[in-house]
Amino acid sequence: MGKFLVIVESPAKVRTIGKILGKDYLISATMGHVRDLPKNRMGFKVDENLVSEIDYVVITGKKQAIKDLKSKCKNVDLVYLATDPDREGEAIAWHVVEELKIDLSNVRRVVFNEITPDAVKGAFETPRDINKLLVDAQQARRLIDRIVGFPLSRYVTNNITGYTKLSAGRVQSVALQLIIDRENKIEKFKSQKYWQIKAILFCTKNNTKGNIFSAILQTKKSLKTGKGSSVQNVITEREEVEKIKADLVTAQYIVKAINVKEKHSSPPLPFITTTLQREASVKYRFNVNRTMRIAQQLYEGISIQGGDQEGLITYMRTDSRVLSKNAKDDIKKYITSNFGFEYVGSVKGKKITKVRGAQEAHEAIRPTSIFRTPSSLRKYLDSDQYKIYELIWNRTVSSQMADALYAITTVDICANSSTREYLFKASGSQIKFDGFKKLYSSMILEEDDNESDSKLPVLDKGENLSREKLDIDVRETKPPPRFSESDLIRELESEGIGRPSTYASIVSRIRDQMYVALEKNRFVPTKLGVAVSSILTRSFTDIVNINFTSDLENSLDAIATGEMDMPKFVGEFDNSFKESVKLAHETAEKIDMREDSGISCTKCGNPLLIIEYRGAKFLGCKGYPECKYSEPMQIGIKCPKCWDEQGGQLVERGSKRGVFYACNKWKPDGGCNYISNGEISNDSCSKCDSKLLKDKKGELDCIYCDRDNQTSEVAIKVDI
Ligand SMILES: [Zn+2]
Ligand SMILES: [Zn+2]
Ligand SMILES: [Zn+2]
Repeated sequence: MGKFLVIVESPAKVRTIGKILGKDYLISATMGHVRDLPKNRMGFKVDENLVSEIDYVVITGKKQAIKDLKSKCKNVDLVYLATDPDREGEAIAWHVVEELKIDLSNVRRVVFNEITPDAVKGAFETPRDINKLLVDAQQARRLIDRIVGFPLSRYVTNNITGYTKLSAGRVQSVALQLIIDRENKIEKFKSQKYWQIKAILFCTKNNTKGNIFSAILQTKKSLKTGKGSSVQNVITEREEVEKIKADLVTAQYIVKAINVKEKHSSPPLPFITTTLQREASVKYRFNVNRTMRIAQQLYEGISIQGGDQEGLITYMRTDSRVLSKNAKDDIKKYITSNFGFEYVGSVKGKKITKVRGAQEAHEAIRPTSIFRTPSSLRKYLDSDQYKIYELIWNRTVSSQMADALYAITTVDICANSSTREYLFKASGSQIKFDGFKKLYSSMILEEDDNESDSKLPVLDKGENLSREKLDIDVRETKPPPRFSESDLIRELESEGIGRPSTYASIVSRIRDQMYVALEKNRFVPTKLGVAVSSILTRSFTDIVNINFTSDLENSLDAIATGEMDMPKFVGEFDNSFKESVKLAHETAEKIDMREDSGISCTKCGNPLLIIEYRGAKFLGCKGYPECKYSEPMQIGIKCPKCWDEQGGQLVERGSKRGVFYACNKWKPDGGCNYISNGEISNDSCSKCDSKLLKDKKGELDCIYCDRDNQTSEVAIKVDI
């Protein structure tokens, strides 16, 4: 038997797969992507509408990994590429082969959706060639992001004054636009007050005071004209409320009609990437990256029982809601023996959308074995892993359970005054069969109040009711909420933008830029974000819009299935986009984002403006370029080293490594060399009024008052 090299992308997968395959297989990790387009140039050519000469370079820090793989390749008979089962994984596999220049006859691609002995061994029995179509789809995404990203970034940098370097990307710009649209909606929203009138009633038959229940006023009708109108959520005038109240205090309440209906509540579908992210966000306040990181750990393998490592869930980047037949059979067995046969769900009525591209026919996210219950794994998982595993396990089992069944009772109650007839409605629901609810209650699905088990007393038609009291509430219509991370992803998904493998990176790129801020875990656009978005949507209407972005995703899918040709698609896109860029530059309008500091230039008297450079603010003369005066901006912190002698104060400085604070008495040829890497806070010192700095541990500190305890920090090179 020969020797084999298996290439995967992560060390955790190395351990899990190594255990399964045994000693004839040498497993090695690429640690993610190994090649990318070069950082500072386009990295490809377009000739006659065809993209060519794509010049990938090895990613910084990956040279050693490539060298290691190269030498390992020499001593084996066959190389297996076992990267993740999607376009991203296919592309990593292809890049490795290209970079290592392995003879294709010595390469096999193996794909498995879960890292279990059966799935992995099965995959090695049915290896295939690299699917170049999937690779092309991934390349097309990368190339188009490059074609759009470079000019867009240059365009916003050129046309927004006050910032030296700004960036803009294809999908992030659309996401930013969604955030701004929502903010505009919230600002324009006019909240409306309305009254809700509720009668608290009870029945009095058999001389017993029956259960109290409430009924909400729905309509009023004039007895004279017979004209009626709805009053629920629409009464806005106080006088009308008073009139109704006066009528209702003296009215007689009678049961007019009773209606009982059965209602089915269906279990949720199994998790896909976005629904898992949303549920973890709502239930545990996990951000998208955290959820994906934990899911990846569960997928790549956790050491259980005697140290054997096994993948606990299927691949976590998927938009398929399908479960394999084996998984379904196991779940059925589990439900039957733990809940009883009546809890097994029927197949009918499950709406499962077809999966695009047969090669990517993934499954939903599910446990690799349903018999590994969350509690049986408790001691092998950390608390985050346990939370995510439990969510997935509960969701998967309940998705195959029976509907919950309710009896919904609605009662019409009329109350007459001398001039009007009022109609109230009361409703109650009683659970007849709990079905999947025995196991699972999604926080997201519980918006429907009707499903709660609210009971009405037994009522008869024509029965007289007594009034306990009237509840009259003022309510207010509310604007739509700002987007949380997972709300934004849901919006992107429903607009057909992005794919399971890209959602998390879209969101983190938006967070990294200065275009949005997070307030209470929700996105708020910054002034700069609004400016960037306004010039992009004005000048690149065809690119920065939802339809273009979702059409592009469809084209990428078409490339993945071979219906479209990558070099031609990208080449044509490049040509037409060049036209848009040309047009945009011809019609460009600049936005000045510089703020007046209120200080005058000591050289020429013009106002000094606040200008940002590499994240640090400084003051520059409005008369630039005629007057070149500039000075660093003081931030209200006394220099602990030289304030006492020469009144030195800290100022913001920018460097390649980010913003830091340095003494304004520093000069290139000497002076005070104090610097601090702390983070400025809004709080001031109670003793000396200096602003407090936050250190690495997050503790607030007055560096001036605490100056005797300061260890002098090593000076780093100053750029300005
Ligand atoms: Zn000046
Ligand atoms: Zn100083
Ligand atoms: Zn102080």
